[in-house]
Amino acid sequence: MNARPSRHANFPVPGGPTLRAKGWRQEALLRLLENVLSVGEDPDNLIVYAALGKAARNWKAHAAIVKTLLEMDEDQTLLIQSGKPVGLVKTHAKAPLVIMANCNMVGQWAKAEVFYELQKKGLICWGGLTAGAWQYIGSQGVIQGTYEIFMRIAEKRFGGSLKGRFILTAGLGGMGGAQPLAGRMAEAAILCVDVDPDRAQKRREIGYLDMIADNLDHALSLIDGAVKEGKALSVGLVGNAAEIYPDIVARRITPDIVTDQTSAHDLVYGYVPKTRTLAEARRMREEAPEQLMAESRASIVDHVKAMLAFQKAGAEVFDNGNLIRTQAREGGVADAFDIPIFTEAYLRPLFCRAIGPYRWMALSGEESDIARIDDLLLEMFPDNRIVTNWVKLARENIPFEGLPARIAWLGHGERTALARRVNALVASRELKGPVAFSRDHLDAGAMAHPNIMTEGMKDGSDAIADWPLIDAMMLSASMADLVVVHSGGGGYSGYMTSCGVTVIADGTPEGDERLDHAMTNDTTLGVIRYADAGYEEALDEVAKKDVPYIRL
Ligand code: NAD
Repeated sequence: MNARPSRHANFPVPGGPTLRAKGWRQEALLRLLENVLSVGEDPDNLIVYAALGKAARNWKAHAAIVKTLLEMDEDQTLLIQSGKPVGLVKTHAKAPLVIMANCNMVGQWAKAEVFYELQKKGLICWGGLTAGAWQYIGSQGVIQGTYEIFMRIAEKRFGGSLKGRFILTAGLGGMGGAQPLAGRMAEAAILCVDVDPDRAQKRREIGYLDMIADNLDHALSLIDGAVKEGKALSVGLVGNAAEIYPDIVARRITPDIVTDQTSAHDLVYGYVPKTRTLAEARRMREEAPEQLMAESRASIVDHVKAMLAFQKAGAEVFDNGNLIRTQAREGGVADAFDIPIFTEAYLRPLFCRAIGPYRWMALSGEESDIARIDDLLLEMFPDNRIVTNWVKLARENIPFEGLPARIAWLGHGERTALARRVNALVASRELKGPVAFSRDHLDAGAMAHPNIMTEGMKDGSDAIADWPLIDAMMLSASMADLVVVHSGGGGYSGYMTSCGVTVIADGTPEGDERLDHAMTNDTTLGVIRYADAGYEEALDEVAKKDVPYIRL
């Protein structure tokens, strides 16, 4: 294997033609595990993103996973329970190599306090969705989603363009760090507040953030200049959003768009209250978690009140999937849910057609493999405006982190067609190595989350978690290489269940069969989920693409 250095000295990016495991499928999953650490936020503690989202339960579990992936045969399946390997069973060569269940707790017990207790005892870990399932690709993972949201708002409110518009947001972590680049790609002037100078610096270094302002006055003057010139610009500001947002309200400045992507879902390990420095908050995580929780919630109340004030003043305000409204409502902000969730407000029509965050990673480590697949995308889908626009933008703007990867929102049929063509390119050696296909858990049939993905479903089925469970069982039966069922941990405990999947295009006929079954069935279920909830777009997709939905 030819490893490349990453930002973290001890966690190089995998790559090269040499196999260490007994086959490419096993090697691929091992490289994906290595990759999530190479691009993670705090790999020394196995943390990848979303405050506490971990790649494995602990270092002992990590070593055992690596050893098993190196030694296992193709007709075996590794069982992982919340980041810890617990068994290696005999299956068959068409079965998944890895099956995981991460952070699932029984209903009445699925609460943050119980999670923290279980975590302390070493019995569970939060897999942060794509962290524990080794599918995280750095901040690029949500960038197209964020960009599409901005463009939907541009169409709805600003005549199709965000040129000369001001976006205010917070959070420059693993996922939130995509916001400055998405804002700049949408041609806006975007101000991103983060309490941690290191996070701002990291986004600056990897090219996601243009500059870091000295203070709020400086930041606002930079933004004002960019707005007046109609210039795309991203500005970072080190500060606490619970102070900065109210300060901007007090100055009677109203941004055009306001959101937030701090780790508000986790009041202990994520959000930092304005009453504490970062160092104090970190100490309190172990010493006084309950006090920290109370102070975080009080700050979130001020933070969300400012967001509501911006909304009343005419800004387009939305929740970006971090439970900030839920935390504020529990803190007494009765109208917190006047702020809409991004899924329902902007993206649901796409999910109805199972168009969602599909992604692939070049296991060779070669950027040229992604470039070739970019060309293929343009050749295969010349009339798909979302895809053609995105590929051009992504090529120009997105620096690679870790294994070269691409995200592109593709739908039913498109995902399978692309994956199979790529498998053929692997077989003909036009690509330098196999390619892993995966997607975010926030995908059509894959997630039940009544405060994010499934909020306001047409038939009221918001809280029903059968869909991701069916998805996972179906994907296991559809020959996927890795399947995971995942529920919320930390502050997300009791809020969500999701399913993740990875399939390796290894250039073999069996790989082709796996991609065909797994990718087709995954999006089939996505369309069915929305058709069953009564969405016209999904029913139209059923009719147009002959989706096998049984309608009663
Ligand atoms: P992260 O933990 O890597 O980063 C969170 C950032 O918030 C950190 O940089 C932290 O310093 C900053 N922060 C915390 N409190 C702050 C405060 N009061 N003021 C300013 N900055 C503060 O998390 P992440 O991976 O970036 O995810 C952020 C949130 O978005 C999480 O709640 C996550 O679950 C959610 N999320 C949403 C989507 C989506 O599709 N919309 C996808 C992934 C994650």
